[in-house]
Amino acid sequence: MTRRHTRQRAAIRRAFEAQGRPLSAPEVLELARPEVPGIGAATVYRAIHSLLDEGFLAPVVLPGQPPRYELAGMAHHHHFHCTACGRVFDLAGCLSGLQALVPHGFRVSAHDIILSGHCPDCSA
Ligand SMILES: [Zn+2]
Ligand SMILES: [Zn+2]
Repeated sequence: MTRRHTRQRAAIRRAFEAQGRPLSAPEVLELARPEVPGIGAATVYRAIHSLLDEGFLAPVVLPGQPPRYELAGMAHHHHFHCTACGRVFDLAGCLSGLQALVPHGFRVSAHDIILSGHCPDCSA
């Protein structure tokens, strides 16, 4: 691995750690650019994919949205999608009582909750 390669990957990892929210590849590119001048989209995609393979990142999939990624191994949580700026944020905790929503005889084994609206920057 070249020094440039290592520096690119380090900048990408720092972007995720510093933002503390799921990031799309274009967002990662934007955040890594000041640290790694000349970094390109293809490099960011490759680095994200190897960080996924290594188990450092996990995919965050919202219906109809381009993929985003977050640090792997986080506790159970859900996401908020700002429909104005497109950013995705982590929510703390979960809802109880989901089993009560399903008809008799059904058993819930998994769920996904996505809230959408405006983030503080966009609702100001
Ligand atoms: Zn927003
Ligand atoms: Zn949940």
